[in-house]
Parts: sequence; C-alpha cells; structure tokens
Amino acid sequence: MRVWKRIRQKINQKSRFDNEPQRSVVLLRCIYLTLLVYYIIFFLLMGAVSAASGKPFRISWLALISTFWTILLFWLTYHQRIRRNLILYVILELVWLTGFVYIFGWGCGAQQIMFVLLVLVYFSFYDALPQKAAFTVGLFLFRFALFYYTLNHDPYSALEGNLALILQVWSSMSFFTLMGVICGFYSSNIETADKTLILYNEQLQKMASADPLTGIWNRRSMLTFLHRQLEQNPDRSFSVGMGDIDLFKHVNDHYGHDCGDAVLKWLTERLQGRLQGVGQICRWGGEEFLVYFSDKNGDEAKGFLLDFILELSRTPFQWNGREISITMTFGVEEYDFHSGLDALIKKADEKLYIGKEGGRNQVVF
Ligand code: GH3
Ligand code: MG
Ligand code: MG
Repeated sequence: MRVWKRIRQKINQKSRFDNEPQRSVVLLRCIYLTLLVYYIIFFLLMGAVSAASGKPFRISWLALISTFWTILLFWLTYHQRIRRNLILYVILELVWLTGFVYIFGWGCGAQQIMFVLLVLVYFSFYDALPQKAAFTVGLFLFRFALFYYTLNHDPYSALEGNLALILQVWSSMSFFTLMGVICGFYSSNIETADKTLILYNEQLQKMASADPLTGIWNRRSMLTFLHRQLEQNPDRSFSVGMGDIDLFKHVNDHYGHDCGDAVLKWLTERLQGRLQGVGQICRWGGEEFLVYFSDKNGDEAKGFLLDFILELSRTPFQWNGREISITMTFGVEEYDFHSGLDALIKKADEKLYIGKEGGRNQVVF
C-alpha cells in the first residue's frame, strides 16, 4: 500500500520547470512505466527463446538497451522540458522499431507503436498544426520506408509461426494499452475542462444579465428580450411601465444605505410576485424599474400598476421595528407598432416625469 502511494507520488511529482503542462508530464511517466514492463517482458521472452533455440536474438539486447533508455527518460521528466523528453522518446521508439523490423520483419506488429506516437504528439505538443502535420507526413514516410525495406530484404531472424503470433499479440496488447492510457487521460481532461467551461459560462452569463442586488434582469437583458420579442412577434401588442421610487434619497439619508438596499429588494419581490405570467421586470437604473406587459394595452397596464401602488400604500416597509411608507410613480406607454423601442421607452419615461411633477405616487398613461 505504502509502495503504491510512493509510486503515485513519484508519478505526480512536479517537474523542475514551473510552467510545464503537468498532465503531459504525468502521462509520459505512465507511458514509460508501461513501456518498461513491455521491454522487460520482451527481453525475458526473447532471452528464453534464444536459450532454447541456441540462436542469438539481437532484439533482446535492443530490449535491454531500450529498458535503460526508458528509465533514463523517466528520470529526465523531472529535470528536462517535456518537449525535449518527448522528442527523445520518439527517437527511442523509431530506433526500436527499426531494429525490430530489421530482425523480425513486418509481420510481428511492432509498427503499431507509430499510432501511439502520433496521438501522443498531437495531444501533448503545443506546436502549431503545420508542425504536427509535418510530423505525420514524416512518420508516414518512415513507416513506408521500413515497409519497403522488408519487401526487398528477408528478416535477419524470422520467427516460427507460434512465436510470431505471440509477439504480435504481445505488441498489440501493449500498444492498445498505451493508446487507451493516452486517450483515457486526455478525454477525461477534456471532459473536466468542458464541464468547468460550461459552468463558468453559465455563471458569467448570469452575472452579465442579472442585477447583483435584486437578482432580476438588468437593463441590457430587458433590451435584448424586448428586441427579440419584437422580432419574433411583430404583431403582438404590449405595454411598458417605467417606475421610480418616490423620494428614495430621503430613505437612504434617514435610514441608511442598507435600508435603501433592503427596500429595493422588497419592492422587487412584491412586483415580481404580482407579475407572474403577466410580464417581466428589470432594474433599469438606480431606483428605476422597467415593467413589460405582454398582450396588455396601456389602460390594462395602468390598472395593474394602480393596484400595485395601492398595495404599497397599504403595506409599509418594516425596518428595525419601524414602518416606512414607500410609494412609486409610473409612466405607461403602449406599443404603437411603428415608432420603435427607444421611442416607446422614452415616452414612458416622459410620463413618469409628468407623474413626479404631478405629486408622485401615481400612474400616468
Ligand atoms: P424622486 O421622487 O424625484 O425620484 O426623488 P428621489 O430621491 O428618489 O430621486 P433622486 O434621483 O434624487 O435620488 C435617487 C436615489 O437613489 C439616490 C441614490 O443614492 C439612490 N440609489 C440609487 N441606487 C441605489 C442603490 O442601489 N441602493 C441604495 N440604497 N440607494 C440607491
Ligand atoms: Mg426616485
Ligand atoms: Mg430616479
């Protein structure tokens, strides 16, 4: 258990260089460990075969050299930049592959390692696409050259049927495992990154569209909504009401800014509660709200808002055991199907101003 913990610690240990992509470092170490098992088993297998048959198997020496080379690469991941390390690894694999094909020919499946290299280079290098494409072409040419060589030359030491099959299976298993490790690693990384991005996007969208104090839409969201409504339903009638809290500065001055904030939230909740299924509300500015009434003409919207200001006058706001009377003034305008949104809102605003001039706590249409 403790040994396993130490191995995991070693695999996850940071490289000497601060800005290295840690996930690629960890991945490379996992690959090297898998390869190590591959080379060691290969070495033992070939050693046993050569002992039994009395034939010298040069590839077993290649496996031994590759084992040490892999250990060196693993060690270098702590002290070397990942890009250089990966290049060295690619060189190791190509040397190994050349030796393998030279000795055993094309039929033992070792060339599959090239796909592992390809995927690894595409996912781990932060190089531009043309460089990666050049690597792909280079690898293809290399593969083709090796294949062409085997067409014209017999293997140095061809394996008999069963042994070739064992080698084919062992190579396939190892390379499929490597592919699985690489793809599993990056797909889970992409999934996590995607989820985080979606979450951040949602949060950002919420932050950009809502008023932080009251939680309702801000002016931008309301305008987007109104424009979309007009685009999608150009023949639908609607009205807007521009509302402003009366003498709100007085509330702030007498009871404090916290109290003013609480009034804003309280008012929003009341108005929003009443508007369910009738329309939408947004905080237009400081203590101003814009109300949208779908399928309502000006008179109906005015009726709705009169009921609301009546409710306000009957239920004062409670603050630290004191009752504060809050009133609002509204200007209402109905959509005339040709003047546009800006004109509509401007007219509602002008009527609000008339209401303020006329003594506040009223709805003007
Ligand atoms: P009127 O009836 O003419 O609208 O008078 P008023 O006092 O409401 O108008 P005025 O424009 O003079 O003052 C508005 C005040 O609203 C001033 C500002 O401090 C306050 N205010 C704006 N936004 C906020 C806010 O988010 N929180 C609090 N507490 N106060 C706010
Ligand atoms: Mg005001
Ligand atoms: Mg105002």
